[in-house]
Parts: sequence; structure tokens; C-alpha cells
Amino acid sequence: MDFASRLDKVGESATFKYSSMAKREGVLNLTQGLINYRTPSRIIEAAERAMREGKTSYTPTRGIPELREKIALKLEEENNIEALDPENILVSAGAKQVIFEAVMALVDRGVEVAVPNPSWVSYEPIINLAEGRIVWLPLKLEEGFIPGEDFLSELENSNPQLIFMNSPNNPTGAVYPKKVIREIVDIADRKNAWILSDEIYEKIIYRGEHFSPGSIYDKTITVNGFSKEYSMTGWRLGYCACPEKGVIDKMNIIQSQSVSCATSFVQYAALEAFTEEVKSGVKEMVSDLGNRRDLLVEGLGAAGLLGYKPCGAFYIFPRLGDGDDIKLADRLLEEGVGVIPGSPFGSSGKGCIRISYGFIPRDKIKDVVEKLSSIEL
Ligand code: PMP
Ligand code: GLU
Repeated sequence: MDFASRLDKVGESATFKYSSMAKREGVLNLTQGLINYRTPSRIIEAAERAMREGKTSYTPTRGIPELREKIALKLEEENNIEALDPENILVSAGAKQVIFEAVMALVDRGVEVAVPNPSWVSYEPIINLAEGRIVWLPLKLEEGFIPGEDFLSELENSNPQLIFMNSPNNPTGAVYPKKVIREIVDIADRKNAWILSDEIYEKIIYRGEHFSPGSIYDKTITVNGFSKEYSMTGWRLGYCACPEKGVIDKMNIIQSQSVSCATSFVQYAALEAFTEEVKSGVKEMVSDLGNRRDLLVEGLGAAGLLGYKPCGAFYIFPRLGDGDDIKLADRLLEEGVGVIPGSPFGSSGKGCIRISYGFIPRDKIKDVVEKLSSIEL
């Protein structure tokens, strides 16, 4: 045996694989989990300044105090997660690294982790790396991928150490109503389970409101990052917060023994993300995404290809039949449309495809609808 067996159940990220396949001339690229906007210039200028000022050394492993203070204030003002000390916050090289560290800190071999089905492609592999046992919580397209009775009863019958939540959602675009989040929190509380609330699409909502479970339940690790909202996917910066400092301390041990800290000048640059100028740019971007979403919902809906209304993020997850979605995604690519197959997001994704409208200009949406409507399934 040449390689560690922990990799037996883990493959390459489907989103990255299909995104790179779709980067070809003439392909309508609906694969990428990112937005075709540039990082705000204030952030770029601040990064340049920080580098010139010599802010190029290791930082504290948890992140620079100035950034953690701003994050604590943001979480209090915008998410009602109160009284967080900067020590309750961990800044890292992307939300993905934060999620990895949370799972490594909380999940032992065989320990149950409750994960919605479908879910973002990296939750399952990260839990597999920790040798945790996944309890899948079924979501249904007919219910708009909002947790319903089956989801809640599966959760009720499980014994999880950790529950994953992600609203607004990748891959479905669903935004969970407050009532549903409260129901999940109630169950978590009774079972004394941790919640990992992945809120990376928090600001990208067209209908409904964002609600953070961390505002009502202290055993919540609230995860967020700069990748989507500020078009900073390549900068690698994310963070998490938890009123229960113990878990942050454990995650910080993993951080100090792996990436050490997030990139120094990236952290200084991110301070600009909290300015009014940058925030108003984000609002304009979200309104542009909202227009794209409306056109797609209308067009795909009229073609009978949608079946529900996504209210956030920049993804839609239609079911195009009961067939093999991997073959379907490959065929769509041959015909000039790049999408991600549904099954890497979980068994409920069978027959589905994930469409990202983050990277497609608004004037191309008509072509997308025409192409998808004309392809024989
Ligand atoms: N969570 C979700 C739901 C995502 O879609 C992504 C993909 N960007 C991440 C976390 C990770 O984001 P990043 O590591 O770029 O901060
Ligand atoms: N989160 C993005 C996506 O779902 C980027 C790729 C990844 O991190 O897996 O496409």
C-alpha cells in the first residue's frame, strides 16, 4: 500500500474538476462557484499598501487582532451574535479550511455528523477524512429544498455530534426560513449537538431574510468568508466564530500545525471590506445577480425545467430526469454548456445539475435558457 487509506473514500472536488473542463472557447460556463466581478479596488490597494509597509510576516495564528475585532462587531451588528471576544474568532485560509479544522476538532472515528442531502461537495469528503459517520438529512425539490418533515425526523432519530447547515445554500439556492432554523436548533439543543452554520452566501439573498442560528444557540460555529461577497476566491480568506471558545482553541491548534495563519497582507486588505463604499458595491453586485436569477427562473420555469424558486446564492439545481447526471453533464459540455452534475452533492442530487449564474453575463442568460430547453434529455 503506497497511500493512506483515509483517501480511499475521497476524490477530487467535482466543482473544480468540471470548472476546469468547461474553460473552453465557446462554452457557456455555468460551473464556477464565483462571480464575474473584480475584487473591490479599495481592497486591492490596501493589499499593495500592506505589502509595501512590510506587513509580510507571520501573523498570530488566529488572525490579526484588528480583523478579528471588525468581525466580532459585524457578527454582533448584523447577525445578533453578541459579546464575542476576538479570541472567539479564528481567521483562516478560506472558509473551506475553517470547515476542515472544525470537523477535525469535533469528529472522531465513527462519530455521527448530520448533513443535508444535497449539500456542498466538500462536506462529505472532509467528514470522511475525519472518519466520521454521515447521517444524511433528505431535502426535496418539491419542497424547494427547505428542510421538511423527513429532514427533521431523520435528524430527530440521529445522534449527531455536529449538524451542518448552509443557508443561503449551495447547490440549491434555498434560503431557510427562520422558523425552520429554530426547529433545527431545538433538536440540536436537546441532543447537545454542535451546529456548523456555513453562511458564506449570507449577503446574496433576493427573497427572504438571513437568520444566524448562532444568535440563539451558543454551540454554533458560524462560518463565513470573503470569497463570494467580495469576489476574493483566490485570496483565500475565511473565518469562524463561536461563543464557546473551547472549540476555537482546538481549531487553532490544528491551524498552528498546518497553515500557521492566513496570508498577512490579505488580512490587512480585508479590513477594507467593512467600509461603506465596499458594502455598497456588494449591494449593486447582488442586484445584478438578482436580475440574472429572475431571467433564469422565468426562462427555465417556462420550459418546465425548474420546479422550485431559489431565493439566494447564485445557484439553481433543477432535476432533468432520473438518469445518470454525470453522463448528462458530460453530454451538456459536449453541446457547449458547462454545469456540475448533481450526484457529487449527495444522493438527492441524482438526475440534477447545478447551474451557477455567477459567472455568466446577463445578456447571455437567454442563450443558456435556449440551449438547455433545446437539449434532448
Ligand atoms: N462553503 C460553501 C457553501 C461554498 O460554496 C464554498 C465555496 N467557495 C465554501 C464554503 C468555501 O469557500 P472559501 O474556501 O473560498 O472561503
Ligand atoms: N464553492 C465553489 C463551488 O461550489 C468553489 C469550488 C469549491 O470550493 O469546491 O463551486
